[in-house]
Amino acid sequence: MRLKDKVAIVTGAGRGLGKGIAKKLAEEGAKVVLADMNSPDEAVAEITAGGGTASAFTVNVTKQEEMQAMVQYAIDTYGTLDIMVNNAGINKDGMLHKMPAENWNVVIDVDLTGAFYGTQEALKYMRTQGSGRIINISSGSWLGNLGQANYAAAKAGVVGLTKTAARESAQKGITCNVICPGFIETDMTVKLKEVNEGKAWDSMMERIPMGYAGQPSDVGNMVAFLASDEAAYITSEVINVGGGMIV
Ligand code: NAD
Repeated sequence: MRLKDKVAIVTGAGRGLGKGIAKKLAEEGAKVVLADMNSPDEAVAEITAGGGTASAFTVNVTKQEEMQAMVQYAIDTYGTLDIMVNNAGINKDGMLHKMPAENWNVVIDVDLTGAFYGTQEALKYMRTQGSGRIINISSGSWLGNLGQANYAAAKAGVVGLTKTAARESAQKGITCNVICPGFIETDMTVKLKEVNEGKAWDSMMERIPMGYAGQPSDVGNMVAFLASDEAAYITSEVINVGGGMIV
């Protein structure tokens, strides 16, 4: 129970990685607000059925006033905010020379501007509190990836945003780190199993030195560590959770 009585928000927690992260934080004793555009009620029910403390908040991370309300909700409900995990994200893949501007804009909006609002609103509170943990979910794709110009740019932006936040808040008792998942089995990625009779999925597995996709709990474990006292001296880091895939 490394996070006993800590209060956390996880965005995009209705399913996939966010849900896995929220579950792990709750297992470690944190009280967790699961925030998502689509109702996170089912994910909340799973956590509370297992004895954890969790509640749902419906939010669109691209709306600043909703993000403000989300942070206020955590404080009103559980008394404080210790851990902010900006996880919500989407992809709209396609080759750069054919990418519609709207696919660029929406991915930058959700993946980068959403992380900006979440980081900013959490910092406003944590700076006064004099403590806090911000953990932003980027992707191994931030280094550049075929068909992902929008996503790579947004996820590289998340790295710059987080490293700047780390510098600006290190003296306020706040750490800010980035996790880059490699290829994790979620709704975002399982669609590949249907492409080319599963061959696209198989060829992805060949690119992972460990030979298999990660699970949301693999990322949850890293989030829990970064949120714990054990990680007090770790800030401004970019940590890969990718079975050796990200080099
Ligand atoms: P997912 O599509 O399974 O889940 C994303 C969640 O975010 C959904 O519940 C969705 O409702 C929510 N969401 C989307 N737009 C939102 C918005 N505007 N406001 C609030 N909530 C919103 O995706 P996932 O695989 O769980 O990915 C989670 C994060 O991890 C994303 O940032 C993604 O880029 C990143 N990531 C995933 C992988 C992977 O292999 N799955 C790899 C690297 C990075």
